[in-house]
Amino acid sequence: MKYGIVGGGIAGLTAAYRLQQRGHEVALFEARPQLGGQAGTFEVGGNRLEVFYHHLFSGDSDVIGLIDEMGLGERMSWRESKVGFYHGGRIDNFVTPGDLLRFGAVSPIDRVRLGLVGLYLRRQKDWRRYEGLTAQEWIKKWAGKRNYDVVWGPLLRGKFGSRAGDVSMVWFWGKIFLRFASRGGGVSQKERLGYLMGSFGLLIDALADRLRQAGARVEAGRAVERIVVEEGRASGLQLAGGETVPCDAVIATVPNAAFLEIAPFLPDDYAGLLRKVQYQWASALVLALKQSLSPIYWLNISDPEIPFVGAIEHTNYIEPAQYGGLNILYLSNYVEESSPVVGMSIDELSDYYLPHLTKINPAFSRDWIVDRWLFKDPAGQPVITTNYGASIPSHETPVPGLYLANTTQIYPEDRGLNYSVRLGDKIASIAAA
Ligand SMILES: Cc1cc2nc3c(=O)[nH]c(=O)nc-3n(C[C@H](O)[C@H](O)[C@H](O)COP(=O)(O)OP(=O)(O)OC[C@H]3O[C@@H](n4cnc5c(N)ncnc54)[C@H](O)[C@@H]3O)c2cc1C
Repeated sequence: MKYGIVGGGIAGLTAAYRLQQRGHEVALFEARPQLGGQAGTFEVGGNRLEVFYHHLFSGDSDVIGLIDEMGLGERMSWRESKVGFYHGGRIDNFVTPGDLLRFGAVSPIDRVRLGLVGLYLRRQKDWRRYEGLTAQEWIKKWAGKRNYDVVWGPLLRGKFGSRAGDVSMVWFWGKIFLRFASRGGGVSQKERLGYLMGSFGLLIDALADRLRQAGARVEAGRAVERIVVEEGRASGLQLAGGETVPCDAVIATVPNAAFLEIAPFLPDDYAGLLRKVQYQWASALVLALKQSLSPIYWLNISDPEIPFVGAIEHTNYIEPAQYGGLNILYLSNYVEESSPVVGMSIDELSDYYLPHLTKINPAFSRDWIVDRWLFKDPAGQPVITTNYGASIPSHETPVPGLYLANTTQIYPEDRGLNYSVRLGDKIASIAAA
């Protein structure tokens, strides 16, 4: 069989690799100039870095397994995370139960409630009971209004904007349940996060190299314009520029809107499911700084005056020496398509964000900035609403020989490298059956 794969992110590359291992021919096309999708990289200070901050949790066994399989296991480094919370003009550490007890933004009673809710959720395996509930109503009921207003509400709004109130409790459960799996059991144990030294781009490269060495066509900068259907069956890919690549089956790993564009022939009921899912844009302003902004790696921002949701200082996790001594700071946001942030240039966004950095560190000055970059992705985060499970489109589309595997089909877990690798494995098995 010859398979045409649309999308050169980790899901598309994994699917292509698994099919090739089964003896099939594959041809993979990626629209952007480089492979990697949301895990794409760029160069900074003589090394590579993800366009969006990336780390793994210890429970991410599928992607860790793939990294080992590619011979990159020795490059994995597991390090303690430094998580903080900015609220009311101060930064609190937010890692251990001791930090929680000292967390001054809420009252002692609310701190206890916050801790108990976390303890409770990390023991709940049955997520189905949360399907009909919003995270907002559950948190307000069990953790209390103040904890919602100060802690979880701002974080939900940061990720889902005005849709925060619609987000399913299953999504919130997943964040707590899976996150604590990363701490290896003990409640007081510190979290360790995994990074592939040299960037996750090494995994992308290794997959592409193996595919090419075994004769596959793997091309970036080649958008698929249309999936060709003949006699009711997917039979090829029409590329930008006019070339048509014949194949026996097609696997699309692109977001829903991109899939609808290249497969306009999909019947209404299936297309309706694809249209139903909304996405938040992801945006990251990346700064290379002469000095460090704070001692925290992952700083959650709970302040309505500050227009970004996270200040992620990568070099408080991976040492600046890896990047020519520069300090790398991501200012992260997830916004609706209608948000002005989507259309802002790097200068406009810098003017919008940078004045707020002195709240985190009063000494910050624009002179610290050596370089800066702006990255955006329209399909950064699918919005997981209540009863989401009932309307997930199937991997097998109504068109024979045409398959879909994208981040909207990961549930009850949330999107992440691990789940896109799992998706790639799964779609290869389904399509080759
Ligand atoms: C801000 C942010 C932070 C993240 N942090 C982490 C993290 O810390 N840890 C973690 O595990 N995960 C993280 N993730 C998630 C992880 O990066 C994604 O889940 C994963 O990379 C998705 O891979 P994918 O292949 O499923 O999709 P994508 O990477 O989106 O790949 C789909 C590809 O299809 C291409 N495409 C679209 N249309 C066409 C077309 N017509 N023709 C050809 N190609 C097309 C796109 O350009 C894209 O490259 C993060 C994501 C974001 C946005």
